[in-house]
Amino acid sequence: MAETIFSKIIDKSLPADIVYETDEIIAFRDISPQAPTHIIIIPKKQISTVNDIELDDAALVGKLFVAAKVIAKSEGLADDGYRLVVNCQEGAGQTVFHLHVHLIGGRSLLWPPG
Ligand code: 5GP
Repeated sequence: MAETIFSKIIDKSLPADIVYETDEIIAFRDISPQAPTHIIIIPKKQISTVNDIELDDAALVGKLFVAAKVIAKSEGLADDGYRLVVNCQEGAGQTVFHLHVHLIGGRSLLWPPG
């Protein structure tokens, strides 16, 4: 599968402000934050989009949410609330084709989004 900019963050050849890391998951602050807290959570395994998730990836994908919960708590967002966003394909705004969850918080978040 095609490598992306996130592959370079995983192998540490591109610097990032990493806030969480396990053997399977890494999370770092977004370079262009849309809120006071904007963190990108990714599997180290290269999965391009939600469309490419296989049943065997279910546990790994679940761990993205476990990471989100842990990070939200450490960022002080657990009680006030936060949003998790996954864009799938260009039509939904996906620009980096390595599966990722946006964790956004620290300001009021409108619903429904634009
Ligand atoms: P998408 O639009 O694909 O859902 O989200 C990709 C996100 O990755 C964007 O919010 C963008 O700002 C972020 N991003 C793109 N390149 C880099 C980078 O080199 N470093 C970091 N930390 N974030 C990046």
